[in-house]
Formats: sequence, C-alpha cells, structure tokens
Amino acid sequence: MTERPPKAETVNDLALKTGLYLHFPFCVKKCNYCAFLSFDAEGSPRKEYTEAMIKEIETRGLFFNHEREIDSVYLGGGTPSVMDVSQLSLIMKAVRKNFDIKSDAEITIEANPGTLGKTDRVTRTKLQAYRFMGVNRLSMGVQSMNNDRLHLLGRIHTAEDVIRDFRMAREAGFDNINLDLIFSVPGETTEDALKDAEAIIALGPEHISCYSLQLEEGTPFYEMADQGLITEVDDEEDRRTYHEICSLLKKSGYEHYEISNFARLADEDIGKDPDAVSPFRSIHNSGYWDMSDYMGIGLGASGFISRIRYRNTPDLNEYLTFFREHDPADIYISDIPSAEYHINSEFDMLSEKVFTGLRRREGIKYSETGLTEEEFWRVFSYGRKEAERFSEQGLLIIDKEGLRLTEKGIDISNSIMAEFV
Ligand code: SF4
Repeated sequence: MTERPPKAETVNDLALKTGLYLHFPFCVKKCNYCAFLSFDAEGSPRKEYTEAMIKEIETRGLFFNHEREIDSVYLGGGTPSVMDVSQLSLIMKAVRKNFDIKSDAEITIEANPGTLGKTDRVTRTKLQAYRFMGVNRLSMGVQSMNNDRLHLLGRIHTAEDVIRDFRMAREAGFDNINLDLIFSVPGETTEDALKDAEAIIALGPEHISCYSLQLEEGTPFYEMADQGLITEVDDEEDRRTYHEICSLLKKSGYEHYEISNFARLADEDIGKDPDAVSPFRSIHNSGYWDMSDYMGIGLGASGFISRIRYRNTPDLNEYLTFFREHDPADIYISDIPSAEYHINSEFDMLSEKVFTGLRRREGIKYSETGLTEEEFWRVFSYGRKEAERFSEQGLLIIDKEGLRLTEKGIDISNSIMAEFV
C-alpha cells in the first residue's frame, strides 16, 4: 500500500518552477543499445494510450488546481514523433486546459530522424503542426553521422536523413534545436568520434548532448559483447574521446554547462567572455539539475513534486486498464499505479541537491542549500576529508561560494558525488 502524499494545502508553498514531462513509449524499432522503456510502434495501442494520458493529465491537473506555473514541457520517449499529429494535438490541448503554461515556456519534442515523414511534404506538414501546437524546441536523436555506425547502433536513419530533417526543421521555423551524439560506439576511435562531432557542429544546432555508450544488460549489444561479437571501448579511450569532444565544442562556441550538455553561446560572446552563459541552455533539463519540481506523465514517467519522488508503472496493460476504468474526478493521484513512491527527508533533499548540482558548470553553491559554509560542512563532515583530497588532486574546486567539478573531475564524478549521499 502506498503512502498518500500531502493534501493540496502544502502545494501553496512549493517552488513555482515546475516542468512537465510526457512519456511516449513507442519506437519504429528497438535500437541495439536501448534500455529505455519503449515498445514497437507497429500495432501498438497508441489511440488508447492517448486517451489514458489525457486522463492522467486531467487527474494531475485537478489535484494541482492551477496552483503551479509550468515553465517547460518535454515530450520524450521512446519516440513521440511516431504518434499521429492528431494524437499529440489532443494531448497538448489537454495540457493547456489543465495546467497554466507560461507564455515563454520551453516546449520540446524529441523527433528521431527518419520518423518525421518519408517525403518532404509529409515532414513539412508534421513539423508545421508541431509549431502550431506551440512546440518551440526540437531534440533529434542523431547519435552519429556515419552510416556504418548508425547501422551498428540499430538506428533507422542515415546521415542524409539527419541533414534533410534538420534543414526542414529550420524551414519550419525551429530556431532552437538539440542534436544528440553518442560516442565510444564499439569499434569507434577518438578520431571517428571527432568526425561525427564536427559533422554535427557543421549543422549549427543551438544545443548538443553527448553521451558515452553504455552496454546495458538486456540489450542486444550486451548479448553481442558477451558473445565476443563487439568489444566495448576501453575507459582510457572513452575519456580521451570525451575530453577531445569537449574541447572541440568549446572551440566551436558552445558552453559546456553540464557534464553531457553543451549550448551555443551568443555570437558576441564567442571567443571573448569565458564566463558567458548561453541563452540556449535547456530549461527543462536544467530543472532536473537544479532540483526544481517536475511532473512526469505517461508510462514509466518519473516525477518529483513537493518532495515526493514517484515513477508511474512501466506495465502498459496496467496503465491503460487503470485509466480505462477510472474517471479523473474519482482518482486520487497516489492511486495512479506506480512503481516507486518516496517522500524525501530533509537530508535526502540536501544530498540530492548537491549530487545533481555538481553536474552543472556552476557546481553547487552553499547558498542554494540554505546553509552557510560552516553548516554545510557540519552536515557533510563525513565527506570533507575526501573532498579536500579531490581538491588537492585538481578534481574539485572548493571555495567560499561552494564546490564544483573540474573537467578532470568529471571523469570520476560519480565517486566525488558519492561523498555527499
Ligand atoms: S529511438 Fe531511443 S528510445 Fe527508441 S529504441 Fe532507439 S534508443 Fe530506444
């Protein structure tokens, strides 16, 4: 039996900044490295899923009763762009009806290359429809610009698809585009990865996310590595690639504002102001690292609201059945089938704030924790000695304001962050 969350009166004193995440668990085909919650779109119950999601939006909207302002909406997955435009449009209408979306909210959709349309006409119509729904940021899962590597990854698109979809997105008016890049693909050298990064930079996106490929249990890649069909890139090469990509992106005018994320600087700041902050940092993702509240909606979606961390059930049948059988007005949000439900203690809040804050370029400031420097180190006295050792090794900067990782420290960020949990 799950514990019930605090009733609505506690909602008033919550942080105003709230993000909204909508999960779409369908993809054209499962990629070879994918451990995300997603199913084949072919024959999937997308219509029923749309109806269930709208009911969840209404349920959570009723609970919050317009007491929050949403500053970012993120349609992620899976692949949201495999949903019909009419389905996404109904979902966005429900979002606007049930929540107060700030007029300048960042509204992102993940759109994988090759899923927007087979012809230019279909792609153009789909992109324009997204714009019409208020979507103002596009995130494309490019991963590589090398067709052999894309094939090995099990992606459905080619580098030519990326170039075409990117051009059409610009024509449709998208002036804030993120491209994802994966490096350390089996068989890939640092030089290969740099060529990929260069090809992505050449397109001129406002934001680039770079991730090192992890072989996750249960994925085809994991099996292939087990059978000796592919070999994982060793740690040394992986770290070399990461630092070379970071330096290439910085040279190309991107601010390295989070471990894996880079945002393009304003033209007048490129090469001039080392402290400049990009106007293209992701508002939604920054919310995660700032420990702002966010509401997760959809299958397996996670949320963090009023100190409560929850994750919706990942069981598609359970999710659909629940919303088919219940009316939003009769549902209490804690009745929504969940896989996780946890109320953070004061210490959890503090520890997570340091943990996630250290991912950012700014690191964590004592003032953000509500503590003075002295109080902060009293709470984390058990980690102080180790933190000072990291600092002597040039991995962590500790000063009067707070602490932050150095670029070298990012390589062992998990060990450093673990000192604060
Ligand atoms: S597109 Fe993304 S979510 Fe879908 S299978 Fe590939 S990696 Fe997984």
